[in-house]
Amino acid sequence: MASQKSKTAKHIFVTGGVTSSLGKGIISASIGKLLQARGFSVTIQKFDPYINIDPGTLNPYEHGECYVTDDGAETDLDLGHYERFLGIKTSQDNNVTTGRIYNNVITKERRGDYLGKTVQVIPHITDEIKSNFFKLDKSGDFDFIITEIGGCVGDIESLPFIEAVRQAKLDLGPNNFLSIHLKLRPYLNAAKELKTKPTQHSVKQLLEAGIQPDILVCRTEKPLPIEIRKKLALFCNVQLNSVIEAMDAESIYDVPLLMLKEKLTERVLSKLKLPKTEPDLDEWKAFLGKLKNPTEEVEIGLVGKYVELPDAYKSIAESFIHASAENECAVKLRWISSESITQVNVADLLDNLSGILVAPGFGERGIEGKITAIQYVRENNIPFLGICLGLQCAVTEFARNELKMPQAASTEIHPQTPDPVIDLMNEQKNITEMGGTMRLGAYACTLRKGSKVHAIYGKSKISERHRHRYEFNNQYLEEFENAGMIASGVNPKSNLVEILELQEHPWFIGTQFHPELKSTVQNPHPLFVKFVEAALKFKKISYKREVINL
Ligand code: GLN
Repeated sequence: MASQKSKTAKHIFVTGGVTSSLGKGIISASIGKLLQARGFSVTIQKFDPYINIDPGTLNPYEHGECYVTDDGAETDLDLGHYERFLGIKTSQDNNVTTGRIYNNVITKERRGDYLGKTVQVIPHITDEIKSNFFKLDKSGDFDFIITEIGGCVGDIESLPFIEAVRQAKLDLGPNNFLSIHLKLRPYLNAAKELKTKPTQHSVKQLLEAGIQPDILVCRTEKPLPIEIRKKLALFCNVQLNSVIEAMDAESIYDVPLLMLKEKLTERVLSKLKLPKTEPDLDEWKAFLGKLKNPTEEVEIGLVGKYVELPDAYKSIAESFIHASAENECAVKLRWISSESITQVNVADLLDNLSGILVAPGFGERGIEGKITAIQYVRENNIPFLGICLGLQCAVTEFARNELKMPQAASTEIHPQTPDPVIDLMNEQKNITEMGGTMRLGAYACTLRKGSKVHAIYGKSKISERHRHRYEFNNQYLEEFENAGMIASGVNPKSNLVEILELQEHPWFIGTQFHPELKSTVQNPHPLFVKFVEAALKFKKISYKREVINL
Protein backbone atom coordinates (compact mmCIF):
# COMPACT_ATOMS: atom_id res chain seq x y z
CA MET A 1 0.00 0.00 0.00
CA ALA A 2 1.37 3.41 -0.89
CA SER A 3 2.19 5.59 2.05
CA GLN A 4 -0.70 7.89 2.83
CA LYS A 5 -0.15 11.09 4.70
CA SER A 6 -2.52 10.66 7.59
CA LYS A 7 -3.12 13.24 10.26
CA THR A 8 -2.96 10.69 13.03
CA ALA A 9 -0.43 7.91 12.93
CA LYS A 10 -1.08 4.47 14.33
CA HIS A 11 0.90 4.09 17.54
CA ILE A 12 2.62 0.89 18.57
CA PHE A 13 4.04 0.73 22.08
CA VAL A 14 6.73 -1.83 22.86
CA THR A 15 7.37 -2.72 26.50
CA GLY A 16 9.61 -5.34 28.01
CA GLY A 17 9.66 -7.39 31.15
CA VAL A 18 12.05 -8.87 33.72
CA THR A 19 15.41 -7.92 32.24
CA SER A 20 16.55 -5.08 30.06
CA SER A 21 18.87 -5.81 27.08
CA LEU A 22 16.18 -8.13 25.74
CA GLY A 23 16.48 -6.72 22.26
CA LYS A 24 13.44 -4.43 22.32
CA GLY A 25 15.36 -2.05 20.07
CA ILE A 26 15.95 -4.73 17.44
CA ILE A 27 12.35 -5.97 17.64
CA SER A 28 11.05 -2.40 17.29
CA ALA A 29 13.39 -1.77 14.35
CA SER A 30 12.30 -5.06 12.74
CA ILE A 31 8.60 -4.25 13.06
CA GLY A 32 9.41 -0.84 11.59
CA LYS A 33 11.28 -2.45 8.71
CA LEU A 34 8.44 -4.85 7.94
CA LEU A 35 5.90 -2.03 7.91
CA GLN A 36 8.19 0.15 5.80
CA ALA A 37 8.63 -2.75 3.37
CA ARG A 38 4.85 -2.62 2.89
CA GLY A 39 5.02 1.03 1.85
CA PHE A 40 4.18 2.67 5.17
CA SER A 41 6.18 5.61 6.49
CA VAL A 42 7.45 4.75 9.92
CA THR A 43 9.45 6.32 12.69
CA ILE A 44 10.58 4.89 16.00
CA GLN A 45 11.14 6.69 19.27
CA LYS A 46 12.56 5.60 22.59
CA PHE A 47 11.52 6.72 26.06
CA ASP A 48 14.13 6.03 28.72
CA PRO A 49 13.25 6.03 32.40
CA TYR A 50 16.53 7.38 33.78
CA ILE A 51 16.98 10.86 35.19
CA ASN A 52 19.88 12.04 33.03
CA ILE A 53 18.56 14.66 30.59
CA ASP A 54 20.18 12.61 27.82
CA PRO A 55 22.73 9.78 27.66
CA GLY A 56 25.50 12.23 26.67
CA THR A 57 26.98 12.24 30.15
CA LEU A 58 26.72 8.45 30.67
CA ASN A 59 29.81 6.30 30.80
CA PRO A 60 29.82 3.97 27.77
CA TYR A 61 30.60 1.12 30.17
CA GLU A 62 27.21 1.63 31.72
CA HIS A 63 25.07 2.37 28.75
CA GLY A 64 27.00 1.58 25.59
CA GLU A 65 27.63 4.12 22.87
CA CYS A 66 25.99 7.51 22.75
CA TYR A 67 24.39 7.87 19.30
CA VAL A 68 24.29 11.37 17.80
CA THR A 69 21.62 12.50 15.35
CA ASP A 70 21.84 15.15 12.61
CA ASP A 71 20.25 17.75 14.88
CA GLY A 72 22.93 17.14 17.50
CA ALA A 73 20.90 15.12 19.99
CA GLU A 74 22.93 12.76 22.15
CA THR A 75 20.76 9.68 22.27
CA ASP A 76 20.43 6.03 23.22
CA LEU A 77 22.20 3.52 21.01
CA ASP A 78 18.87 1.99 19.96
CA LEU A 79 18.31 5.05 17.76
CA GLY A 80 21.29 3.82 15.79
CA HIS A 81 19.43 0.56 15.12
CA TYR A 82 16.34 2.46 14.03
CA GLU A 83 18.36 4.51 11.53
CA ARG A 84 20.40 1.54 10.29
CA PHE A 85 17.37 -0.71 9.76
CA LEU A 86 15.00 1.86 8.31
CA GLY A 87 17.40 4.30 6.66
CA ILE A 88 15.48 7.14 8.34
CA LYS A 89 16.77 10.18 10.20
CA THR A 90 15.89 10.46 13.86
CA SER A 91 16.14 13.58 16.01
CA GLN A 92 15.96 14.88 19.56
CA ASP A 93 12.24 14.17 19.52
CA ASN A 94 12.93 10.45 19.03
CA ASN A 95 14.62 10.01 22.42
CA VAL A 96 13.12 11.33 25.62
CA THR A 97 14.20 10.56 29.19
CA THR A 98 12.54 10.99 32.57
CA GLY A 99 15.10 13.76 33.14
CA ARG A 100 13.90 15.68 30.10
CA ILE A 101 10.24 15.19 31.05
CA TYR A 102 10.82 16.53 34.57
CA ASN A 103 12.98 19.34 33.23
CA ASN A 104 10.17 20.42 30.92
CA VAL A 105 7.56 20.21 33.68
CA ILE A 106 9.71 22.12 36.17
CA THR A 107 10.47 24.81 33.57
CA LYS A 108 6.72 25.19 32.94
CA GLU A 109 6.04 25.32 36.67
CA ARG A 110 8.61 28.10 37.15
CA ARG A 111 7.07 30.00 34.25
CA GLY A 112 3.71 29.84 35.99
CA ASP A 113 2.08 27.69 33.32
CA TYR A 114 0.21 25.58 35.87
CA LEU A 115 -1.61 28.58 37.35
CA GLY A 116 -1.21 27.79 41.03
CA LYS A 117 -2.00 24.07 40.74
CA THR A 118 -0.07 21.47 42.71
CA VAL A 119 2.20 19.85 40.13
CA GLN A 120 1.95 16.05 40.35
CA VAL A 121 3.07 12.88 38.59
CA ILE A 122 -0.49 12.36 37.43
CA PRO A 123 -1.55 14.36 35.47
CA HIS A 124 1.39 16.72 34.89
CA ILE A 125 4.23 14.28 34.33
CA THR A 126 2.04 11.80 32.47
CA ASP A 127 0.60 14.60 30.31
CA GLU A 128 4.13 15.73 29.46
CA ILE A 129 5.06 12.13 28.55
CA LYS A 130 1.97 11.83 26.36
CA SER A 131 2.60 15.10 24.60
CA ASN A 132 6.07 13.78 23.78
CA PHE A 133 4.60 10.44 22.61
CA PHE A 134 2.54 12.39 20.10
CA LYS A 135 5.05 15.09 19.14
CA LEU A 136 6.27 13.37 15.97
CA ASP A 137 2.65 12.89 14.94
CA LYS A 138 2.21 16.62 14.39
CA SER A 139 4.06 16.60 11.09
CA GLY A 140 1.47 14.24 9.60
CA ASP A 141 4.38 12.45 7.96
CA PHE A 142 3.99 9.05 9.55
CA ASP A 143 1.63 6.14 9.12
CA PHE A 144 3.17 4.45 12.15
CA ILE A 145 5.00 5.68 15.21
CA ILE A 146 6.62 2.91 17.21
CA THR A 147 7.46 3.82 20.79
CA GLU A 148 9.92 1.70 22.69
CA ILE A 149 9.70 2.08 26.46
CA GLY A 150 13.14 1.51 27.97
CA GLY A 151 13.67 -0.44 31.19
CA CYS A 152 11.26 -3.09 32.46
CA VAL A 153 7.61 -3.13 33.39
CA GLY A 154 7.49 -3.13 37.19
CA ASP A 155 10.51 -0.87 37.72
CA ILE A 156 9.73 2.14 39.90
CA GLU A 157 11.16 4.45 37.24
CA SER A 158 8.94 3.02 34.50
CA LEU A 159 5.62 3.55 36.29
CA PRO A 160 4.76 7.03 34.89
CA PHE A 161 5.57 5.82 31.35
CA ILE A 162 3.39 2.74 31.68
CA GLU A 163 0.57 4.88 33.08
CA ALA A 164 1.01 7.27 30.14
CA VAL A 165 0.77 4.33 27.72
CA ARG A 166 -2.50 3.27 29.39
CA GLN A 167 -3.90 6.77 28.95
CA ALA A 168 -2.60 6.96 25.37
CA LYS A 169 -4.83 4.01 24.49
CA LEU A 170 -7.88 5.94 25.66
CA ASP A 171 -6.78 9.06 23.78
CA LEU A 172 -6.02 7.21 20.55
CA GLY A 173 -8.84 4.71 20.51
CA PRO A 174 -8.44 0.97 19.87
CA ASN A 175 -7.88 1.22 16.10
CA ASN A 176 -4.89 3.50 16.48
CA PHE A 177 -3.19 1.88 19.46
CA LEU A 178 -1.35 -1.40 19.81
CA SER A 179 0.64 -2.80 22.69
CA ILE A 180 3.43 -5.30 22.19
CA HIS A 181 5.14 -6.89 25.15
CA LEU A 182 8.54 -8.49 24.81
CA LYS A 183 9.52 -11.23 27.19
CA LEU A 184 12.37 -13.57 27.87
CA ARG A 185 11.41 -17.23 27.83
CA PRO A 186 14.18 -18.83 29.82
CA TYR A 187 15.19 -22.39 29.04
CA LEU A 188 16.40 -24.23 32.08
CA ASN A 189 19.07 -26.59 30.96
CA ALA A 190 18.99 -28.63 34.16
CA ALA A 191 15.24 -29.19 33.87
CA LYS A 192 15.37 -29.29 30.02
CA GLU A 193 12.35 -27.09 30.09
CA LEU A 194 11.08 -23.73 28.77
CA LYS A 195 9.72 -21.65 31.60
CA THR A 196 6.51 -19.64 31.20
CA LYS A 197 6.24 -18.23 34.74
CA PRO A 198 8.38 -15.09 34.23
CA THR A 199 6.23 -14.13 31.23
CA GLN A 200 3.04 -14.59 33.13
CA HIS A 201 4.47 -12.49 35.91
CA SER A 202 5.36 -9.40 33.91
CA VAL A 203 2.16 -9.56 31.87
CA LYS A 204 0.32 -9.63 35.18
CA GLN A 205 2.12 -6.43 36.16
CA LEU A 206 1.12 -4.86 32.86
CA LEU A 207 -2.48 -5.94 33.35
CA GLU A 208 -2.47 -4.47 36.85
CA ALA A 209 -1.31 -1.21 35.30
CA GLY A 210 -4.32 -1.37 32.98
CA ILE A 211 -2.53 -2.45 29.79
CA GLN A 212 -3.56 -5.58 27.97
CA PRO A 213 -0.78 -6.55 25.57
CA ASP A 214 -2.16 -7.24 22.10
CA ILE A 215 0.87 -9.20 21.02
CA LEU A 216 3.41 -11.12 23.09
CA VAL A 217 6.90 -11.54 21.66
CA CYS A 218 8.97 -14.20 23.41
CA ARG A 219 12.73 -14.10 23.19
CA THR A 220 13.85 -17.70 23.37
CA GLU A 221 16.81 -19.96 22.68
CA LYS A 222 14.56 -22.90 21.77
CA PRO A 223 11.51 -22.99 19.51
CA LEU A 224 8.21 -22.50 21.33
CA PRO A 225 6.13 -25.68 21.11
CA ILE A 226 2.41 -25.28 20.55
CA GLU A 227 1.56 -26.34 24.13
CA ILE A 228 3.73 -23.54 25.50
CA ARG A 229 2.19 -21.04 23.10
CA LYS A 230 -1.28 -22.13 24.23
CA LYS A 231 -0.34 -21.81 27.87
CA LEU A 232 1.08 -18.32 27.32
CA ALA A 233 -1.95 -17.24 25.31
CA LEU A 234 -4.28 -18.44 28.04
CA PHE A 235 -2.43 -16.96 31.00
CA CYS A 236 -1.56 -13.71 29.32
CA ASN A 237 -4.97 -13.22 27.79
CA VAL A 238 -3.80 -12.92 24.18
CA GLN A 239 -4.90 -14.80 21.08
CA LEU A 240 -2.84 -17.87 20.21
CA ASN A 241 -1.59 -16.39 16.93
CA SER A 242 -0.48 -13.29 18.83
CA VAL A 243 2.16 -15.26 20.70
CA ILE A 244 5.26 -14.62 18.61
CA GLU A 245 8.48 -16.56 18.90
CA ALA A 246 11.70 -14.52 18.62
CA MET A 247 14.48 -17.07 18.46
CA ASP A 248 18.07 -16.01 19.10
CA ALA A 249 19.43 -15.02 15.70
CA GLU A 250 22.87 -15.31 14.15
CA SER A 251 22.70 -11.67 13.06
CA ILE A 252 20.41 -8.86 14.19
CA TYR A 253 19.65 -8.32 10.51
CA ASP A 254 17.95 -11.74 10.40
CA VAL A 255 15.30 -10.60 12.86
CA PRO A 256 12.96 -8.88 10.35
CA LEU A 257 12.81 -12.12 8.36
CA LEU A 258 12.22 -14.19 11.49
CA MET A 259 9.40 -11.85 12.42
CA LEU A 260 8.03 -12.11 8.90
CA LYS A 261 7.92 -15.88 9.26
CA GLU A 262 6.11 -15.52 12.57
CA LYS A 263 3.60 -13.18 10.87
CA LEU A 264 4.18 -10.44 13.42
CA THR A 265 3.22 -7.53 11.17
CA GLU A 266 0.22 -9.42 9.85
CA ARG A 267 -1.02 -9.51 13.41
CA VAL A 268 -0.26 -5.80 13.78
CA LEU A 269 -2.16 -4.94 10.59
CA SER A 270 -5.12 -7.11 11.42
CA LYS A 271 -5.42 -5.70 14.96
CA LEU A 272 -5.28 -2.17 13.59
CA LYS A 273 -7.85 -3.08 10.91
CA LEU A 274 -5.52 -2.45 8.01
CA PRO A 275 -5.40 -4.57 4.85
CA LYS A 276 -2.65 -7.18 4.74
CA THR A 277 -0.17 -6.69 1.92
CA GLU A 278 3.06 -8.41 0.92
CA PRO A 279 6.29 -6.71 2.01
CA ASP A 280 9.00 -5.99 -0.53
CA LEU A 281 12.19 -7.15 1.16
CA ASP A 282 14.28 -7.80 -1.96
CA GLU A 283 17.03 -5.33 -1.08
CA TRP A 284 17.16 -6.54 2.50
CA LYS A 285 17.46 -10.14 1.36
CA ALA A 286 20.16 -9.19 -1.16
CA PHE A 287 22.11 -7.57 1.69
CA LEU A 288 21.76 -10.70 3.84
CA GLY A 289 22.76 -12.88 0.91
CA LYS A 290 26.01 -10.95 0.47
CA LEU A 291 26.64 -10.80 4.21
CA LYS A 292 26.28 -14.53 4.62
CA ASN A 293 28.23 -15.63 1.57
CA PRO A 294 31.54 -13.83 1.72
CA THR A 295 34.21 -14.86 -0.74
CA GLU A 296 37.10 -13.39 1.28
CA GLU A 297 38.00 -12.56 4.85
CA VAL A 298 40.08 -9.84 6.51
CA GLU A 299 40.96 -9.17 10.09
CA ILE A 300 40.85 -5.56 11.25
CA GLY A 301 42.01 -4.27 14.64
CA LEU A 302 39.80 -1.96 16.65
CA VAL A 303 41.95 -0.08 19.14
CA GLY A 304 39.95 1.52 21.92
CA LYS A 305 39.66 1.92 25.63
CA TYR A 306 36.22 0.36 26.16
CA VAL A 307 36.87 -2.88 24.28
CA GLU A 308 35.50 -5.06 27.10
CA LEU A 309 32.05 -3.74 26.23
CA PRO A 310 31.57 -3.91 22.46
CA ASP A 311 28.29 -1.94 22.80
CA ALA A 312 30.52 1.10 23.42
CA TYR A 313 31.47 0.90 19.72
CA LYS A 314 28.14 -0.37 18.41
CA SER A 315 27.88 1.86 15.34
CA ILE A 316 31.47 1.14 14.32
CA ALA A 317 30.90 -2.61 14.55
CA GLU A 318 27.65 -2.32 12.56
CA SER A 319 29.32 -0.13 9.91
CA PHE A 320 31.86 -2.91 9.40
CA ILE A 321 29.00 -5.37 8.91
CA HIS A 322 27.46 -3.13 6.22
CA ALA A 323 30.86 -2.69 4.54
CA SER A 324 31.53 -6.39 4.80
CA ALA A 325 28.35 -7.21 2.85
CA GLU A 326 29.16 -4.57 0.26
CA ASN A 327 32.63 -6.09 -0.31
CA GLU A 328 31.35 -9.66 0.08
CA CYS A 329 34.23 -10.02 2.48
CA ALA A 330 33.87 -11.20 6.07
CA VAL A 331 35.39 -8.70 8.48
CA LYS A 332 36.73 -10.18 11.66
CA LEU A 333 37.34 -7.57 14.35
CA ARG A 334 40.23 -7.94 16.80
CA TRP A 335 39.39 -5.78 19.82
CA ILE A 336 42.59 -4.35 21.26
CA SER A 337 42.71 -2.42 24.52
CA SER A 338 44.70 0.74 23.88
CA GLU A 339 46.08 0.61 27.43
CA SER A 340 47.83 -2.67 26.71
CA ILE A 341 49.83 -1.39 23.70
CA THR A 342 53.52 -0.53 24.18
CA GLN A 343 56.49 -0.05 21.83
CA VAL A 344 57.63 -3.54 22.84
CA ASN A 345 54.42 -5.48 22.09
CA VAL A 346 52.84 -3.40 19.32
CA ALA A 347 54.11 -5.61 16.49
CA ASP A 348 52.77 -8.73 18.23
CA LEU A 349 49.42 -7.21 19.13
CA LEU A 350 48.83 -5.94 15.60
CA ASP A 351 50.37 -8.95 13.90
CA ASN A 352 48.56 -10.16 10.78
CA LEU A 353 45.98 -7.40 10.82
CA SER A 354 45.04 -5.91 7.47
CA GLY A 355 43.77 -2.61 8.84
CA ILE A 356 43.53 -0.69 12.10
CA LEU A 357 40.74 1.56 13.30
CA VAL A 358 41.54 3.82 16.24
CA ALA A 359 38.32 4.58 18.05
CA PRO A 360 36.78 7.76 19.43
CA GLY A 361 37.02 8.50 23.14
CA PHE A 362 37.57 10.96 25.93
CA GLY A 363 40.33 11.53 28.46
CA GLU A 364 43.90 10.46 28.92
CA ARG A 365 43.63 6.72 29.55
CA GLY A 366 45.04 4.61 26.73
CA ILE A 367 46.22 7.60 24.67
CA GLU A 368 49.88 6.58 24.45
CA GLY A 369 48.88 3.07 23.29
CA LYS A 370 46.79 4.58 20.51
CA ILE A 371 49.68 6.81 19.43
CA THR A 372 52.07 3.83 19.42
CA ALA A 373 49.66 1.77 17.29
CA ILE A 374 49.33 4.66 14.83
CA GLN A 375 53.10 5.04 14.47
CA TYR A 376 53.28 1.33 13.66
CA VAL A 377 50.56 1.40 10.99
CA ARG A 378 51.90 4.60 9.46
CA GLU A 379 55.41 3.21 9.15
CA ASN A 380 54.23 -0.17 7.89
CA ASN A 381 51.74 1.10 5.32
CA ILE A 382 48.83 -0.67 7.03
CA PRO A 383 45.41 0.85 6.19
CA PHE A 384 44.28 3.17 8.97
CA LEU A 385 41.03 4.86 9.86
CA GLY A 386 41.11 7.21 12.86
CA ILE A 387 37.81 8.49 14.16
CA CYS A 388 37.63 11.68 16.22
CA LEU A 389 40.04 10.96 19.09
CA GLY A 390 41.64 8.53 16.62
CA LEU A 391 42.35 11.43 14.25
CA GLN A 392 43.60 13.56 17.13
CA CYS A 393 46.06 10.79 18.11
CA ALA A 394 47.23 10.50 14.49
CA VAL A 395 47.92 14.25 14.46
CA THR A 396 49.84 13.99 17.73
CA GLU A 397 51.88 11.04 16.49
CA PHE A 398 52.76 12.79 13.23
CA ALA A 399 53.80 15.96 15.04
CA ARG A 400 55.98 14.06 17.49
CA ASN A 401 57.68 11.68 15.09
CA GLU A 402 57.71 13.51 11.75
CA LEU A 403 57.58 17.19 12.64
CA LYS A 404 60.01 16.79 15.53
CA MET A 405 57.78 18.20 18.25
CA PRO A 406 58.39 15.55 20.92
CA GLN A 407 55.98 17.10 23.40
CA ALA A 408 53.14 17.68 20.95
CA ALA A 409 49.76 16.78 22.41
CA SER A 410 46.10 17.63 22.60
CA THR A 411 45.37 20.13 25.38
CA GLU A 412 42.69 17.67 26.54
CA ILE A 413 45.55 15.37 27.57
CA HIS A 414 48.38 17.83 28.36
CA PRO A 415 47.00 21.30 28.97
CA GLN A 416 50.51 22.78 29.25
CA THR A 417 52.04 21.25 26.09
CA PRO A 418 54.33 23.61 24.15
CA ASP A 419 52.80 22.27 20.91
CA PRO A 420 49.01 22.15 21.24
CA VAL A 421 48.37 20.53 17.86
CA ILE A 422 44.84 19.71 19.04
CA ASP A 423 43.17 22.44 21.03
CA LEU A 424 39.85 23.92 22.11
CA MET A 425 38.22 26.47 19.86
CA ASN A 426 38.01 29.86 21.54
CA GLU A 427 34.21 29.58 21.87
CA GLN A 428 34.63 26.36 23.83
CA LYS A 429 37.17 27.69 26.31
CA ASN A 430 34.79 29.22 28.85
CA ILE A 431 32.31 26.35 28.94
CA THR A 432 32.19 24.58 32.29
CA GLU A 433 29.09 22.38 31.91
CA MET A 434 29.56 18.84 30.57
CA GLY A 435 26.15 17.99 29.08
CA GLY A 436 25.33 19.03 25.51
CA THR A 437 28.27 21.44 25.23
CA MET A 438 30.32 19.75 22.50
CA ARG A 439 30.31 20.36 18.75
CA LEU A 440 27.34 18.13 18.11
CA GLY A 441 25.42 16.96 15.06
CA ALA A 442 25.74 17.42 11.32
CA TYR A 443 28.22 19.87 9.82
CA ALA A 444 29.09 20.47 6.19
CA CYS A 445 32.51 19.54 4.92
CA THR A 446 34.19 20.33 1.59
CA LEU A 447 36.53 17.74 0.15
CA ARG A 448 39.71 18.65 -1.67
CA LYS A 449 39.70 17.61 -5.33
CA GLY A 450 42.31 14.99 -6.08
CA SER A 451 42.41 13.73 -2.48
CA LYS A 452 41.71 10.14 -1.45
CA VAL A 453 38.52 11.09 0.33
CA HIS A 454 37.26 12.95 -2.71
CA ALA A 455 37.62 9.76 -4.72
CA ILE A 456 36.06 7.68 -1.93
CA TYR A 457 32.94 9.83 -1.58
CA GLY A 458 32.82 10.64 -5.28
CA LYS A 459 31.74 14.23 -4.53
CA SER A 460 32.97 17.49 -3.02
CA LYS A 461 30.30 18.34 -0.50
CA ILE A 462 29.40 16.05 2.36
CA SER A 463 27.70 16.33 5.72
CA GLU A 464 28.78 14.27 8.71
CA ARG A 465 28.00 14.09 12.40
CA HIS A 466 30.24 15.35 15.19
CA ARG A 467 30.63 14.87 18.93
CA HIS A 468 33.76 16.44 20.35
CA ARG A 469 35.23 19.54 21.98
CA TYR A 470 38.76 19.66 20.61
CA GLU A 471 39.89 20.53 17.07
CA PHE A 472 42.96 20.47 14.88
CA ASN A 473 44.94 23.64 15.59
CA ASN A 474 45.15 25.45 12.25
CA GLN A 475 48.33 27.28 13.29
CA TYR A 476 50.17 24.05 12.51
CA LEU A 477 48.40 23.26 9.24
CA GLU A 478 51.09 24.49 6.89
CA GLU A 479 53.77 22.43 8.60
CA PHE A 480 51.61 19.32 8.46
CA GLU A 481 50.77 19.82 4.81
CA ASN A 482 54.40 20.44 3.86
CA ALA A 483 55.28 17.13 5.49
CA GLY A 484 52.55 15.22 3.63
CA MET A 485 49.59 15.14 6.01
CA ILE A 486 46.94 17.17 4.25
CA ALA A 487 43.60 18.59 5.31
CA SER A 488 41.49 16.93 2.64
CA GLY A 489 38.19 17.85 4.27
CA VAL A 490 37.46 21.28 5.74
CA ASN A 491 34.39 22.95 7.18
CA PRO A 492 33.47 25.61 4.60
CA LYS A 493 32.26 28.12 7.20
CA SER A 494 34.69 27.82 10.08
CA ASN A 495 37.70 26.42 8.22
CA LEU A 496 38.01 23.74 10.89
CA VAL A 497 39.87 20.66 9.66
CA GLU A 498 37.45 17.73 9.37
CA ILE A 499 39.61 15.15 7.57
CA LEU A 500 43.36 14.58 7.41
CA GLU A 501 45.05 12.08 5.13
CA LEU A 502 48.62 11.05 4.40
CA GLN A 503 49.75 11.49 0.83
CA GLU A 504 52.57 8.94 0.97
CA HIS A 505 50.56 6.10 2.44
CA PRO A 506 48.19 3.72 0.65
CA TRP A 507 45.26 4.40 3.00
CA PHE A 508 45.68 6.59 6.08
CA ILE A 509 42.62 8.72 6.89
CA GLY A 510 41.49 10.44 10.05
CA THR A 511 38.10 12.10 10.47
CA GLN A 512 37.10 14.60 13.13
CA PHE A 513 33.50 13.47 12.58
CA HIS A 514 31.91 10.07 13.14
CA PRO A 515 31.22 8.34 9.82
CA GLU A 516 29.87 5.30 11.68
CA LEU A 517 26.76 7.27 12.66
CA LYS A 518 25.57 7.43 9.08
CA SER A 519 26.15 3.92 7.80
CA THR A 520 22.94 1.97 7.15
CA VAL A 521 22.08 -1.40 5.66
CA GLN A 522 20.96 0.17 2.42
CA ASN A 523 23.59 2.92 2.39
CA PRO A 524 26.84 1.54 3.78
CA HIS A 525 29.27 4.34 4.54
CA PRO A 526 31.84 4.87 1.75
CA LEU A 527 34.72 5.32 4.20
CA PHE A 528 34.05 1.92 5.77
CA VAL A 529 33.41 0.27 2.41
CA LYS A 530 36.70 1.57 1.00
CA PHE A 531 38.60 0.89 4.23
CA VAL A 532 37.60 -2.78 4.05
CA GLU A 533 38.52 -2.80 0.35
CA ALA A 534 41.95 -1.32 1.22
CA ALA A 535 42.43 -3.90 3.97
CA LEU A 536 41.69 -6.68 1.49
CA LYS A 537 44.20 -5.27 -0.94
CA PHE A 538 46.80 -4.96 1.82
CA LYS A 539 46.21 -8.58 2.80
CA LYS A 540 46.75 -9.77 -0.75
CA ILE A 541 49.92 -7.71 -1.17
CA SER A 542 51.37 -8.93 2.15
CA TYR A 543 50.51 -12.48 1.19
CA LYS A 544 52.32 -12.09 -2.13
CA ARG A 545 55.31 -10.56 -0.34
CA GLU A 546 55.43 -13.52 2.02
CA VAL A 547 55.31 -15.96 -0.85
CA ILE A 548 58.13 -14.13 -2.66
CA ASN A 549 60.21 -14.12 0.52
CA LEU A 550 59.81 -17.87 1.02
N1 GLN B 1 37.92 13.79 23.40
C1 GLN B 1 38.02 14.34 22.09
C2 GLN B 1 37.29 15.67 21.98
O1 GLN B 1 36.45 15.98 22.78
C3 GLN B 1 37.50 13.36 21.05
C4 GLN B 1 36.04 13.05 21.20
C5 GLN B 1 35.60 11.84 20.41
O2 GLN B 1 36.41 10.98 20.05
N2 GLN B 1 34.31 11.70 20.17
O3 GLN B 1 37.54 16.41 21.08
